Amino acid sequence: MLIDGDLVESSSGRRFDNINPATEEVIGQVADGTPADTDRAIAAARRAFDTTDWPTDREMRARALLQLQDALESERELYRQELIDETGMPRSLVASAHLDATLEDALRFPAGMIRDFAWERSLDPVAKGGQVVRRTVRKEAVGVVGAIVPWNVPLEVTLHKLGQALATGNTVVLKPAPDTPFNATRLARLVVDKTDIPPGVLNVVTSSDHLIGEALVTDPRVDMISFTGSTATGRRIAEKAAPTLKRLFLELGGKSAHILFDDADLDVQLPLAARWVTAHAGQGCHLPTRLLAPRSRYDEIVERVRAEMEQVPYGDPNDPDVHMGPVISARQHERVLGYLRLGREEGARLVTGGRRPAHLDKGFFIEPTVFADVDNSMRIAREEIFGPVLVVIPYDDEDDAVRIANDSQYGLAGNISTQDPERALRVASRLRVGVARINGSDPYAADAPFGGYKQSGLGRQNGVEGFEQYLQTKTLGLPDTFR
Ligand code: NAD
Repeated sequence: MLIDGDLVESSSGRRFDNINPATEEVIGQVADGTPADTDRAIAAARRAFDTTDWPTDREMRARALLQLQDALESERELYRQELIDETGMPRSLVASAHLDATLEDALRFPAGMIRDFAWERSLDPVAKGGQVVRRTVRKEAVGVVGAIVPWNVPLEVTLHKLGQALATGNTVVLKPAPDTPFNATRLARLVVDKTDIPPGVLNVVTSSDHLIGEALVTDPRVDMISFTGSTATGRRIAEKAAPTLKRLFLELGGKSAHILFDDADLDVQLPLAARWVTAHAGQGCHLPTRLLAPRSRYDEIVERVRAEMEQVPYGDPNDPDVHMGPVISARQHERVLGYLRLGREEGARLVTGGRRPAHLDKGFFIEPTVFADVDNSMRIAREEIFGPVLVVIPYDDEDDAVRIANDSQYGLAGNISTQDPERALRVASRLRVGVARINGSDPYAADAPFGGYKQSGLGRQNGVEGFEQYLQTKTLGLPDTFR
């Protein structure tokens, strides 16, 4: 772990196992942090914020972020293998989404924003009490940020959080998920060995105990929680943060719809639908897991998407041709299998998949699965399964499709497939989601705000909106004579 500039073991001396979900083998161990370790990490972050130049020295911060960028790149290939081993994400996805795409811009974009952002602006003077008041609005760091990360895209989420939180002058206590700690401990070592980031500015506490995260949420020395994870945990964090009224930035779950209109190019869109929902074995918050098909072409679409799902190559995540690896853990495997049982009990028709693959006896694998004859009121259509499971729901017309897409507690993303640009934009504006993708076009990058409506979260990661998430606003009144 990294606490106050030092790489340390847990104060209890205990460690816990990191397990490769594709082989079920232990790939190593990591320090099992305690409440006392968290306490020291928070104290270090508080001290670094309150007593050093970090919050005010923008040049130092830009330099530090670019040093961190170089440091990460110097171990890019080690990261690649470690990410495959600890997340089970296939090599192809690590390249396209997790590692290489993230190293492109997650730190560089906020480092550039340090230079470009309007940190201060003037308002027109006002006359008050017989004197002229000059007015300035300033942006300042929020303070100590508790950054809590999930296991599904751990390095990606971590770097986007850190880039923005550090660029804006905050100090951070980072808590990785127990299932994927190595990417964070490697980062900790790189920070110490290869950057001038001052002690206390970034602390990393690993633990097998989720409640270490809760200690960050309840501690009055922490000013903000930047959380990515499930909606259930997000709700609990909101409750636990209430007594200290922290700033909350919550990136939560999703159950996104893909509306396939009758003029969509099925030859392109159906393979894409199968690829999306099996990306990282369905363990993505924004994946379109509900396919909405026009009733007039329902049977044809179900049949064709079945064929596409059966062609998805899955297995060893090291194989460059594999598109889908395992789910993250035995617990998650059980949970997804539970949803597959539930779907049948609810009366949905299992079209393909639905089991652990017979030919893979090791690893937490699940067959790419399609359920048809799904009604949007079924739990498999309402709850986030986080497995490679597509539900196909029929609709009657455009209004019906929009109604079904919006009939969800979530509002993270939505896909629209049609050849009619007017219809695409009309429907995009009616969807209550933070991200709308037309014909599979994904806007995601560090300069594009990402986040959800409704119970998919509060606030935005990335873009100017994400940068401002980590800032406070101070309004100054100055006598006109003060020049
Ligand atoms: P999770 O909510 O179980 O855990 C996320 C993190 O919170 C972990 O580090 C965990 O240790 C910690 N945690 C657990 N209980 C806590 C508590 N009471 N207080 C503080 N911290 C606590 O989520 P997960 O299973 O790790 O990740 C999957 C979830 O993350 C899915 O719901 C997915 O949709 C969501 N997710 C959302 C986004 C997004 O950008 N919206 C991105 C990735 C993942």
